[in-house]
Amino acid sequence: MQVEQVLNNLSKRFPNESEYLQAVEEVLLSIEEVYNAHPEFESQNIIERLCIPDRIFTFRVSWVDDKGNVQTNMAYRVQHNNAIGPYKGGMRFHASVSLSILKFLAFEQTFKNALTTLPMGGAKGGSDFSTEGRSDGEIMRFCQAFMVELWRHIGPETDVPAGDIGVGAREVAYMYGMYRKLARENTGTFTGKGLEFGGSLIRPEATGYGNIYFLMNMLKRKGIHDLKGQVVAISGSGNVATFTAEKVIELGGKVVTLSDSSGYIYDPDGIDKEKLAYVFELKNIYRGRIKEYAAKYGCKYVAGETPWKEPCTIALPSATQNEVNEQDAEALVKNGCIAVSEGANMPTTPEAIEVFLKHKILYAPGKAANAGGVSVSGLEMSQNSMKLSWPKEEVDARLKEIMASIHNSCVKYGTEPDGYVNYMKGANIAGFMKVAKAMMAQGVL
Ligand code: NAP
Repeated sequence: MQVEQVLNNLSKRFPNESEYLQAVEEVLLSIEEVYNAHPEFESQNIIERLCIPDRIFTFRVSWVDDKGNVQTNMAYRVQHNNAIGPYKGGMRFHASVSLSILKFLAFEQTFKNALTTLPMGGAKGGSDFSTEGRSDGEIMRFCQAFMVELWRHIGPETDVPAGDIGVGAREVAYMYGMYRKLARENTGTFTGKGLEFGGSLIRPEATGYGNIYFLMNMLKRKGIHDLKGQVVAISGSGNVATFTAEKVIELGGKVVTLSDSSGYIYDPDGIDKEKLAYVFELKNIYRGRIKEYAAKYGCKYVAGETPWKEPCTIALPSATQNEVNEQDAEALVKNGCIAVSEGANMPTTPEAIEVFLKHKILYAPGKAANAGGVSVSGLEMSQNSMKLSWPKEEVDARLKEIMASIHNSCVKYGTEPDGYVNYMKGANIAGFMKVAKAMMAQGVL
């Protein structure tokens, strides 16, 4: 494989898909050496078959808003690869959603799911529908209309969606309700469901907690065993960010920032348990903005910026893609940041990753660090199949084990001659090898 040639070819076939091409380039550059050491992969053109999704459903969703106007949105489901298990990956509802973004997410999901040790293929879906400013009734009607089209393409052994940006417990419940009515079965074809109808304990917390379990594995190798004295910058204030903050606080760290797409707050005294309870309420009940935190607690709010220029020792990007650029990375390193662990998917630009690797700080890519969410989704699928539910302690213990195993895989494949662990390379190679071997064994499909 010549990475440049493969990328040129993909750019010609999929012009204007910058996020997709960015994600592919990052993986191909990391796996080039290993791939080329296995000529059998090239003979089966594994690389193109792994970069191009198995199939994509594109459809229009029409629904009626509260004023009686008929609205239309575009919607997609990208079924990327199911060589190791049923398609699995979240749904994103956000005005910025495009096919390029969902293709990058489905591609990444394939490797992430391979790392979890559970049998799950990769997928992603969503719509350019934004929940912001919409009533519950509007959101329900949109979710139902969305599912009227998608239900025939998913199923417990076929494709199991979940949440992502803009899709939380409320949206999952509306979609699952319509799915089960149309499919006339109730076997759990969604994860992140409510506890009353097949959801798993710890699923809401899993991505954030999992990121901190991964971080602790990295820090332990450096002789650091808790977060006491660590100053932690987190972006976002949604599902991933808030549960990440909860676990950091539990382990003794000081969380100083949170954000949303309008700006960030900086609280040098630290966001404690009580303040975080307010954020949960603000986001989940009042659907408010993070700047209201600054007004309530009298701290700094910076509109239109990300928090990375604030001093911290650990940075946990947990909002969206490409939210940490090269200047941010330089500022983080200059301010003494020792670890960056990604709660979001591809939050760091390639130039910023270069900065982290050059300075040899601990850098955990999303496909490893945020795999806790999909891992507990996998455990939710297992519980649904067995028609039982595990206690919280059991799910949490399994989550910890899975994050430790992902960490070990990264160390195995990413340790460089000087002992530095390139977690990005390790995660990409470990995920790739598993999917590639499964595809080789199953023939050309
Ligand atoms: P969420 O609950 O909807 O929260 C998203 C947060 O990010 C919100 O604070 C949102 O602010 C902010 N945000 C969204 N788009 C933004 C943009 N363009 N610029 C700046 N801020 C933006 O979603 P989530 O589930 O926490 O997901 C966050 C990230 O984690 C995503 O990258 C997602 O793919 C990844 N992830 C999630 C899971 C999971 O289990 N949920 C698992 C693995 C990875 P606004 O409210 O202003 O939009």
